[in-house]
Amino acid sequence: MANVFTELKTPITGTYKQPTGLFINNEFVEGVDKKTFEVINPSTEEVICSVHEATEKDVDIAVAAARKAFEGPWREVTPQKRGQLMYKLAELCEQNLDILAAVESLDNGKSITLARGDVGAVVGCLKYYAGWADKIEGTTTDVAPDMFHYIKKEPIGVCGQIIPWNFPLLMLAWKIGPALCTGNTVVLKTAEQTPLSALVLAQYVKEAGFPPGVLNIISGFGKVAGAAISAHMDVDKVAFTGSTIVGRAIMKAAASSNLKKVTLELGGKSPNIVFNDADIEQAISWVNFGIYYNHGQCCCAGTRIYVQDGIYDKFVAAFKKRAEANKVGDPFHHETFQGPQVSQLQFDRIMGYIQAGKEEGATIETGGDRHGDKGYFIQPTIFSNVRSDMKIMQEEIFGPVCAIAKFSTEEEVIKLGNDTTYGLAAAVHTKDLNTAIRVSNALKAGTVWVNCYNMIHHQMPFGGYKASGIGRELGKEVLNNYLETKSVSVRLGGALFG
Ligand code: ADP
Repeated sequence: MANVFTELKTPITGTYKQPTGLFINNEFVEGVDKKTFEVINPSTEEVICSVHEATEKDVDIAVAAARKAFEGPWREVTPQKRGQLMYKLAELCEQNLDILAAVESLDNGKSITLARGDVGAVVGCLKYYAGWADKIEGTTTDVAPDMFHYIKKEPIGVCGQIIPWNFPLLMLAWKIGPALCTGNTVVLKTAEQTPLSALVLAQYVKEAGFPPGVLNIISGFGKVAGAAISAHMDVDKVAFTGSTIVGRAIMKAAASSNLKKVTLELGGKSPNIVFNDADIEQAISWVNFGIYYNHGQCCCAGTRIYVQDGIYDKFVAAFKKRAEANKVGDPFHHETFQGPQVSQLQFDRIMGYIQAGKEEGATIETGGDRHGDKGYFIQPTIFSNVRSDMKIMQEEIFGPVCAIAKFSTEEEVIKLGNDTTYGLAAAVHTKDLNTAIRVSNALKAGTVWVNCYNMIHHQMPFGGYKASGIGRELGKEVLNNYLETKSVSVRLGGALFG
């Protein structure tokens, strides 16, 4: 019997059985080369356990399993039954919310409160897409009296899905929801930093009753397993969430292999704009939530904060206090808002950006250092006195670091807001409805929030303009990314060319 489970413990659930194998064909298996890699607890920097690593050979096996399921048993399942299976999976996640959230906190470092919120969102997302399964419809059109034309929607086939570490379970749900409800099969690779929660969830896939091979979940590294998925000749579509640099590599791999369909959800450098007439206390809370939620590890984080000159000084003073009041520490403490960054690499990158900000002459209003002496914790950090051309204003930091700048006019702030290669999200805080709509319409971003931030919901499309990506996730809109369109023209007798 392969060694594909281990006993682990979380501070709030006690011991549990953690799967460590690759989940292929509804079973946990070792990799062909029997390689494993260590999973690190970001709060303590200690090893939690080791999991099996997928190499190219394992990707081949997983893709073959997904192909077999796609051509066989999954085709036999009616759309209604597909929806029921997905709903059952959602219910199992709901019943196991405590353990899923605890494993997420252990592995990713996010606070248990946030992790519980993530699992709630996973359940909502899976139920929403379960509901879509039997609502995928084609159309007919009248072209000529002796012809019958119909336009049919069909699943694409085997979908490769590559997800990041910032929302390990939620990104999985965003990806598998639309892929499965439209009748595709999936090989999903989790991020090497955070493989554990998806493996716990994988157990419920079998329990829910999915046929083997429909949803395969593998742990592994981007340059090995991720690259193998992107370049695979029998993967029909690849969906990716992660950095822009890797997004480019995936697109190149797709282009030079079988031209598989590509959707990308990439980085951001989102502007968060506060006008003089905003409710200042509310704005501060949302700006704080916009940047420090999930430790700044959000592609849509509101990292560039523009405050109008009439309230600038008051805003900076109050925002500084608010940021300093965020509780940083043990993710399992119920009051914690900000846990550690996910890895040493991320910690070092973020500290590098803080250093760059200092060297380029920006002022640190608060933070700027590590928090504590163990774990990858970083103080909530605010820079002021920044210029648009500074590294901290142009590049994605992906940590609890933001920059605040002053503006005078609406025209000026629209220009500043759009002065980025990215276009994922933006926010506007004002009591004036006309300003809110004018500015929302002028910002080049896939999502704009007015008087709030991070109000992401599975019913609303999410994705980026410019270098923030290709295609949209969530909502009804994502479904087309997982469907082929077939035009069928039937001649109903009659003369040739008659
Ligand atoms: P980060 O830099 O924040 O870790 P990445 O974009 O590197 O974000 O990682 C997001 C996901 O992409 C992870 O699952 C990772 O393994 C995967 N990945 C990294 N490099 C590649 C690659 N060259 N091809 C395919 N997937 C990759």
